[in-house]
Amino acid sequence: MSVMEQTASQKAIDLENKYGAHNYHPLPVVLHRGEGVYVWDVEGKKYYDFLSAYSAVNQGHCHPKIVAAVTEQSKTLALTSRAFYNDMLGKYEEFACDFFGFDKLLPMNTGAEAVETALKICRKWAYEKKGLDENEAEIVVCANNFHGRTTTIISFSNDPVARKNFGPYTKGFIKIEYDNLDALEQELENNKNIAGFLVEPIQGEAGVYVPSEGYLSKAKALCDKYNVLFIADEVQTGIARTGKILACDHENVKPDLLILGKALSGGAYPVSAVLADDEIMSVIQPGNHGSTFGGNPVAAAVAMAALSVVRDEKLAENAEKLGKLFRSELNKFIETSKITKLVRGKGLLNAIVINDGEDSDTAWNICLKLRDNGLLAKPTHGNIIRFAPPLVMNEEQLMDCVSIIIKTLKEFE
Ligand SMILES: *Cc1c(COP(=O)(O)O)cnc(C)c1O
Repeated sequence: MSVMEQTASQKAIDLENKYGAHNYHPLPVVLHRGEGVYVWDVEGKKYYDFLSAYSAVNQGHCHPKIVAAVTEQSKTLALTSRAFYNDMLGKYEEFACDFFGFDKLLPMNTGAEAVETALKICRKWAYEKKGLDENEAEIVVCANNFHGRTTTIISFSNDPVARKNFGPYTKGFIKIEYDNLDALEQELENNKNIAGFLVEPIQGEAGVYVPSEGYLSKAKALCDKYNVLFIADEVQTGIARTGKILACDHENVKPDLLILGKALSGGAYPVSAVLADDEIMSVIQPGNHGSTFGGNPVAAAVAMAALSVVRDEKLAENAEKLGKLFRSELNKFIETSKITKLVRGKGLLNAIVINDGEDSDTAWNICLKLRDNGLLAKPTHGNIIRFAPPLVMNEEQLMDCVSIIIKTLKEFE
């Protein structure tokens, strides 16, 4: 790297530091361009993207079909608000309902908004259909959840950094241990005011925790038994990431409320949604909920293109196949590794656990070295590194990445 080039990255970092709120701690790399599984920094160095913008870019960077959808639709009509109809939203709603197998879709923009939307629908359903007394509804959530950053959502987080000094908190949430069916059944049995159970099929931010086999299907059966809505937050696990269109598909579970975001747009635009059948979605009437940008024509066009790419390029099948290969290759290395404890995940949502203290900076230092070696990943919870490349990766690229990762880990043995 020449002195001039160093200046370009440092300049961008300095600008963000000086003028931007310090609400993130990015890996020091300044990206300028992306294509497929690759990104390039401002100095022109090429990297494999092993984060995919937290699984928003499942379809790969700047996918030509998605770019075309943004470009064409933004030249035609970008925003009407929902005060008027537009000729794209209905088409998209039909497309997405067919794609995921639901009666209706409620369009929003970000993942957190879609989670908020699902919570509102769940509460309203509880009062109007289940017959709970007003303001008594409670929603069961899991410890170590991540559902976004709004005041209500952080109210039921147990991450002190996300919560502290943002109170007072929203009431009406009960936290139980993740992957613990007894805890769920106990709550459902003893508390008549439970309206819903909100769960991530795999806890992504917490460190890619995959629950025991049968957890989702049994939790769904318990929810059915006690007339409680099963709410799946598939913002990160959905849209082919784990080797099926939805992570719930691994256990043939159809959620009562399905929350999607991130890869619903392939990363080209903020698009999120809640899907449900009529019986539930019908509680929402004009004026109950909305968003100026939710369901805009560009979002509709982008989401249809993004889902078409997932289907046409068989990204779920590819994620399933490459995920198995990835874990088996890493497991071979881990047998003799001291620095790496284990690899876990499903499809192409994986993580390795570094054999060092929770508070050590080893995982961060490994990510810096991975960057130097041409691969971008980020620690999630202290000593865990998440690996989630775009799903358009091929086997040769994956094997190249495996060798970069193993080579890098060996530097830390
Ligand atoms: C990222 C994420 C969200 C929040 O989405 P935003 O678009 O960042 O608001 C919610 N739930 C899960 C599981 C996520 O991974």
